[in-house]
Amino acid sequence: MSIMGPPSASGRFGEYGGRFVPESLIPACFELEAVFNEAWGDPEFVGEYRRILTEYGGRPTPVTELRRFSQKLGIRVFLKREDLAHTGSHKINNVIGQALLTRRMGKTRLIAETGAGQHGVATATAAALLGLECVVYMGEVDVARQALNVFRMKLLGASVISVVSGSRTLKDAINEAMREWVASVDSTHYCIGSVMGPHPYPYMVREFQRIVGDEALVQSKEILGGKVPDYVVACVGGGSNAAGTFAGFVDTTAKLVGVEPEGGAAINRGIPGVVHGMRSNLLQDDVGQVLEAHSISAGLDYPGVGPEHSYLASIGRATYVTANDDEVLNALQVLSKLEGIIPALEPAHAIAYVIREAGKEIPLGSTALVTMSGRGDKDAESVAQLLGDDV
Ligand SMILES: *Cc1c(COP(=O)(O)O)cnc(C)c1O
Repeated sequence: MSIMGPPSASGRFGEYGGRFVPESLIPACFELEAVFNEAWGDPEFVGEYRRILTEYGGRPTPVTELRRFSQKLGIRVFLKREDLAHTGSHKINNVIGQALLTRRMGKTRLIAETGAGQHGVATATAAALLGLECVVYMGEVDVARQALNVFRMKLLGASVISVVSGSRTLKDAINEAMREWVASVDSTHYCIGSVMGPHPYPYMVREFQRIVGDEALVQSKEILGGKVPDYVVACVGGGSNAAGTFAGFVDTTAKLVGVEPEGGAAINRGIPGVVHGMRSNLLQDDVGQVLEAHSISAGLDYPGVGPEHSYLASIGRATYVTANDDEVLNALQVLSKLEGIIPALEPAHAIAYVIREAGKEIPLGSTALVTMSGRGDKDAESVAQLLGDDV
């Protein structure tokens, strides 16, 4: 039995997870769970999911050895190249799976919420491919900040709804998408972008992302003469690229390390609570008010984390560490200059950890596989602003 097997019948990973939603959404969660379980055991469904990710998504993505970077650090570092997947990140693996499920449920419409816009663009992409209607909820503040992604979603045929309630950011967009899901659940699937939300989402999204870890296990064994890497490292926002990566290695000897942003370290500094349909670690104050996360990478700017990560931390199977903004900006430049790969700010957190700990926590001569969850083009403008002339 794998340490990352299915959760309990009520969607628990240990004491985390569950299904904390209004009565009106319970049937939709049950329907989704039943349809997912059936589809995931159906070779025809799995075959189509894999075919699309191959022919359209560009899978399998390669594993690249970083020769100059490794020489500098004294450890052998490999990247799992999700930056080379269609749309430039691992998000495509999840949205293709959920779009196929939408069709299987006989639904015609996808809704999603997005902060920085990356999950909105990915959902709009999958909807276009499968001919589904797509509506993306986005806080008014984010709509203004992320004009280019708003335009991309529109080009892909999606409608973008600007949410003007509350702080007009991601958490308000989530509330609005939930409300809309209640009202239109017969025709509409709510496409959640990470290993979060009520059961079955954390489990289902991890299963759609495990293709990253399953491929990387085979690829790294091939490179290492049958051995697995000593360390397997991934950044953690909601935690989907890390969960997908860890799923491939959890039953091996590899040490699993998740890297959180210092200002959004839900596992390192949060305490268990219930938010957005799940029980997990959460940044909150003394009276249980959810605190805002702060990170230079919009994709990690979330006060919570997927429940399975809280579980893996609680049993000690995975370790969670943090990287700060300066370390991340440095890592982004080092990788760019030594290897010709510009990482997104999110995976630059994982790179930053490896740079900081090479020869310390990570002994010299070790091997480490890092998931490069996405490419850095989307962040070029904000990195330019942060670095100014210092490059
Ligand atoms: C969205 C995003 C993340 C954060 O999401 P996880 O669910 O934690 O994987 C990380 N990296 C990139 C490139 C992203 O686009």
